[in-house]
Amino acid sequence: MSGFAITVPAAVGDEIRQHVGEQEPGFEAAGRLIVRTLDGRAVEYKRVRNGANVPERVMFSASWRPQPGHISILVHSHPSGGPAPSDLDLQWATNRRYRGSEHRALFAIFAADFLHVWRITDVATRSYERVPVVERRSSRRERVRAAA
Ligand SMILES: [Zn+2]
Repeated sequence: MSGFAITVPAAVGDEIRQHVGEQEPGFEAAGRLIVRTLDGRAVEYKRVRNGANVPERVMFSASWRPQPGHISILVHSHPSGGPAPSDLDLQWATNRRYRGSEHRALFAIFAADFLHVWRITDVATRSYERVPVVERRSSRRERVRAAA
């Protein structure tokens, strides 16, 4: 999966933004991004219940059937933090054995109005690297921004 980049269409990005925007202040949104392995295109965002009922925490409680030709990347938001994984995120990602197959090493953080995708490269040292994301913005959004 070297050279893998993810493309997020405007409609999918809008779904994530809407979900994140609906959270109470400080609370993290949790979801699952379904990505086509062939070309890295994000085809859908599905909301997942955040089982952590406190701010600044996420606990995924969901199960799903693998979809042939697609991978699921778990997404959570950082309402006040930066885009980089927190210590807890790295602990979570490594504890849950986000390794083995390439795609299980991937996780995403929505922060500063952008989706950031990370890949655990080494479990022992909790090393990680950024996965390129190309996000298509809807023209409507761009017009609103231009007018603001
Ligand atoms: Zn986090």
